[in-house]
Amino acid sequence: MKPLVAANWKMHKTLKETEDYLRRLLEIIPVDPPVELVVFPSFTALALAGKILEGTPVALGAQNGHPQREGAFTGEVSMHQLADLGVRYVICGHSERRKIFGESDEFVAAKVRAAWAYGITPILCVGETLEERRAGRAWEVVERQLFAALSEGLSGPLVIAYEPVWAIGTGVPAHPKDAQEMAQNIRSWLLRRFGEKGKEVRIQYGGSVKPENAREFLGLPEIQGALVGGASLDPESFWRIAQAAGLE
Ligand code: PEP
Repeated sequence: MKPLVAANWKMHKTLKETEDYLRRLLEIIPVDPPVELVVFPSFTALALAGKILEGTPVALGAQNGHPQREGAFTGEVSMHQLADLGVRYVICGHSERRKIFGESDEFVAAKVRAAWAYGITPILCVGETLEERRAGRAWEVVERQLFAALSEGLSGPLVIAYEPVWAIGTGVPAHPKDAQEMAQNIRSWLLRRFGEKGKEVRIQYGGSVKPENAREFLGLPEIQGALVGGASLDPESFWRIAQAAGLE
């Protein structure tokens, strides 16, 4: 199972910046990288990024997608429209969307199912707040999120990103021991619930991953990749992180 290293650009980059970034990334990566790479530009840059990435080892991802196929949902973009653009991965349940836009576990579940229906692999984000961790409830919260999002089964390829909310964009990552323990809990839960199919799910760590600390997470036995925000905005930095995942 190749690790998956993902660049979540969030609300960054114009068309010109997107093009410059992707051309540079394609210059510095090998033809057949030891890890799978995926870039998540803003919606405005998805079509351009799709054209540039066609036939390259870098996959196209979308930061969000609406579960309905089409309809009166002003400002939204559907999984159906994303599939039409060649999107291969979609982030579902990112904590910024859960918190800022009030997305519920049920809505996240609908997105995961819709992604599968359109042939897109969901990256399901789960993670506890600092308050929840301090209260000893980290696993309880993550288990609830998993249970809700996957209540109707595992109907396609899946990536789970364990992202403690307090580690996202703060410069303070989780302790690798805690990330490993959570990843192990997630894996055991997947195996109990889905049997053999649970082995095929890749588990990423996300939260203040940088080139300097990437190896601490990407070298952990139960972690098969990273979801990277801030440090993915520069192609060199993103590729240095990805290389840490490719080390044996
Ligand atoms: C993220 O946006 O999912 C993330 C992990 O951000 P950062 O790497 O900046 O903490």
